[in-house]
Amino acid sequence: MDADTQSGAQDSSVVVLPETLLDGISGIERAISQQTEWFKKWCDRVVVNHDPSAFEVNAITDIPLGKWYASREAEAFHSSQEFQALGKRLEEMLAQVQGFLHADQDGVPHPVDDYTEFMNTLLDLNNLVQRLQNDAWRGLTRVDPLTGVRNRHDMMAELDAERERARRTQDACSIAMADLDHFKNINDTHGHVVGDAVLRNISKLFDEQLRPYDTVYRYGGEEFLLCLPNTELGTAQSVLERLRVTIQDTSMQIDGVDGGIAVTASFGVAEVDAVEHIVKTIERADMGLYNAKSNGRNAVMAWVPRG
Ligand code: GH3
Ligand code: MG
Ligand code: MG
Repeated sequence: MDADTQSGAQDSSVVVLPETLLDGISGIERAISQQTEWFKKWCDRVVVNHDPSAFEVNAITDIPLGKWYASREAEAFHSSQEFQALGKRLEEMLAQVQGFLHADQDGVPHPVDDYTEFMNTLLDLNNLVQRLQNDAWRGLTRVDPLTGVRNRHDMMAELDAERERARRTQDACSIAMADLDHFKNINDTHGHVVGDAVLRNISKLFDEQLRPYDTVYRYGGEEFLLCLPNTELGTAQSVLERLRVTIQDTSMQIDGVDGGIAVTASFGVAEVDAVEHIVKTIERADMGLYNAKSNGRNAVMAWVPRG
């Protein structure tokens, strides 16, 4: 998902673990089926029983979709535009229901337009929920299950779009490869489960330290690709240097491990070139990484073409 549009279930830069998204999706599904049930009962009360208390509903406490909207389960969707629109639509639906009550009390027949508007609101609510669900499913295909950062799905197309944007706007963009140092030792010493937890912690740290419009992709096992838009090479080096020091100075607290685990990372960085294929730019970042490893690790190195 494009960081600029933020139209989906999540902001591309935010670590949302797949299990959180899955919980979110099953939460919506439950709310929809309860909502249909609720609506049927509500119509019975209004149309069949002429029950005036049916109009005393509260969007959040009485309506299943409203309850879901206010629940923790829905937090994974908070950055989505559809989610915000859903909140507004729920409020509108409530206002329309109250409008019916007043018409009822005044003893005047309900205007047909009011019903049409009410039904349109319900249809709109349905569409919004469906879009939320679709975005969440699409989001799931793009998220690395272990770390919650982006996987390589769509990565090349997105990087190429960044290159094109940089060409058009003449803004700089930098790409970095990050690789954890001696990660095999961590697995060998503490086991793979702890190694996995370290990868999760590192991903979270990348996400916290970088800007919202930077994107972190899990490139391979313990390798990450970072895309830093609007960032020229020198600035990217400073940003990565700060990141490197933060990683070096962070003692990772992992369940079941006494004390903390010390981790370092090496970085290679290259600035995107408007006319160079993005694969070549990644190769240059990789060469920088290779140099950082050869020079003793825990370092940031750039590789720029000569001449
Ligand atoms: P270097 O500093 O040269 O990068 O050394 P390294 O030990 O980090 O590199 P190497 O490529 O030898 O080892 C990478 C290790 O990362 C080996 C592999 O088992 C581990 N690894 C890859 N993916 C995962 C994963 O998803 N979970 C865990 N726990 N380990 C992983
Ligand atoms: Mg590696
Ligand atoms: Mg490594």
